Parts: sequence; C-alpha cells; structure tokens
Amino acid sequence: MSLNYDNSMIICRECSGQGTDVDIECPNCFGTGYDPEEDKPFAQCHTCYGEGEVSLDICHHCSGTGQLFVEDD
Ligand SMILES: [Zn+2]
Ligand SMILES: [Zn+2]
Repeated sequence: MSLNYDNSMIICRECSGQGTDVDIECPNCFGTGYDPEEDKPFAQCHTCYGEGEVSLDICHHCSGTGQLFVEDD
C-alpha cells in the first residue's frame, strides 16, 4: 500500500502561498532597483522606483490562489 492522494498542488513560490496583497521581487530589475534597460548604469527602475520589489493585489503567478499545479519537466 502506498499513499496515493493527489499531490499535484504546490505552494506558489512567488507569493509564498499568500495569493493576494503580496510583495514580489520586481520583474523589471529583478530586485536590484536599477533599470537594466537604461543605457546609463544605476538608473532607477521605473517599475519599482528603486525599491526592488513591487506590490500586487493579486499574484499573477498563481492568479491569487496561492497554489500552483506541479508541471512535469
Ligand atoms: Zn524594479
Ligand atoms: Zn502566487
């Protein structure tokens, strides 16, 4: 006998399972606070305004559920 319950859901790592009202690493500067698209170095990121993270009402990674289906690679 082996445990065979559905284990295909995992906690969303983007929001740590919170789903809503989450702070995530800025997708534009990857948490550095500097805009990688700017020609000049150390230009302030216009997405997070140099904070390095942004607040979301709903996590776009898990659509606010806090969980994700495991995908086989
Ligand atoms: Zn940023
Ligand atoms: Zn999430």
